[in-house]
Amino acid sequence: MDNARKYTNRLLELCDDGLVDPKSLLESSLQWLSEDAVQGLCERLELTRMMFPVKCSYCDQIISDSDDEQEDDDGDPMHSECWHDLEQDIAQAKAEREEYEREQGPSPEQEAREVFNDKLEMYRNEY
Ligand SMILES: [Zn+2]
Repeated sequence: MDNARKYTNRLLELCDDGLVDPKSLLESSLQWLSEDAVQGLCERLELTRMMFPVKCSYCDQIISDSDDEQEDDDGDPMHSECWHDLEQDIAQAKAEREEYEREQGPSPEQEAREVFNDKLEMYRNEY
């Protein structure tokens, strides 16, 4: 069992002694590993968030590990807080549009649709 890490421990000693360049050793080691193994190593070391920062689709800030996170309707990452803000924005925009429509009366499209539906109804009653 002592032999199992014989080469690993010796390589680390040689790095400590300055006889092996740690960066060259790392590069060689990463080349030796498959791309999947490198990914697995990064995930194991919890480096992926630092390596590939994820931005909030709402506020464009980087979402850190400690942030509460969720996905929007398109599956894009968002802060939970921003999700709450977005819901409020949507509700407010909807309320403003309803208010606007109440003040303006029916839009030309709505009126046209109503006229069309009335005519359709008349046509149906005739035939
Ligand atoms: Zn955000």
